[in-house]
Amino acid sequence: MSSSPSWYTEEVGYSGSAIGFRVKKKLHEEQSRFQKIEIYETTDWGNLMVLDGCIMLTSRDNFLYHEMMSHPALFTHSNPKRVVIIGGGDCGTLREVLRHREVEQAVQVEIDERVTRVAEQYFPELCEANGDARAQLLFDDGIAYMKNAAPESIDVIIVDSTDPVGPAEGLFNEAFYQTCFKALRQGGILVQQSEPPLTQLPLIKSMRQLMRQVGFAAVRTLPFPQPAYPTGWWSCTMARKGADLSGFRERGAHSKSFATQYYSADIHKAALVLPEFMREALGE
Ligand code: SAM
Repeated sequence: MSSSPSWYTEEVGYSGSAIGFRVKKKLHEEQSRFQKIEIYETTDWGNLMVLDGCIMLTSRDNFLYHEMMSHPALFTHSNPKRVVIIGGGDCGTLREVLRHREVEQAVQVEIDERVTRVAEQYFPELCEANGDARAQLLFDDGIAYMKNAAPESIDVIIVDSTDPVGPAEGLFNEAFYQTCFKALRQGGILVQQSEPPLTQLPLIKSMRQLMRQVGFAAVRTLPFPQPAYPTGWWSCTMARKGADLSGFRERGAHSKSFATQYYSADIHKAALVLPEFMREALGE
């Protein structure tokens, strides 16, 4: 990571590349118990959040990630009533989940309360559903939360975490997937951000293997664009308990009662088609 007076640049070691935004000024900096939180005002991308030197989101393009982390899973499940989000402290995923009227409760388990408090100040549009009576904001370790979750009590688990290092490392292993499998009801779905397909295929492959190993019947990886993240192209991986992932509530997605900027029924269908190099490497 390096900064010149007018650019914030994240150098991404593992991909030998960098992402940069022209900034007007730094709006906030603090060291929380868990990480360094920085907010910048950019010239063209709205506000920018950085955690421990890793770019998390900009006002301009976060809709791509938040919509793809939520709507494909929620339109695949036949009746998602209880949703748990692990991480997701900026609250953008929570806002998308609560757009679904059939959701009765959405619990967000974020380890670092400061991320949410800072998001409330600098990304208020992402936090506008935090006061929804169906929303429950917990500040706790998602690994411990899933360990203690009641069996067969959740319909959709969304792992909207940082990269698999530090406190998020334990969200990418077999023991964690086992706790998710146990906590999901039949037909339940786990969806996890799964890093860039172009450079992190071995990680995606291992996540998928571990998900199958713990008993998930079907696993699918959906790529989508995300300019603010390394390579500009990201993915989420869905795993389903006791049912497949080939179809979704296409009619429901076509006639959804809320507006989206990226997600649509057609985008959903397209995201289920993998580029050749991914299809071959992942054995689909
Ligand atoms: N969209 C972002 C990305 O993919 O880079 C992630 C955004 S969200 C801000 C990620 C959050 O995960 C962070 O706020 C971090 O504190 C949280 N987190 C990391 N490990 C966690 C854990 N074990 N339990 C709960 N939250 C965790």
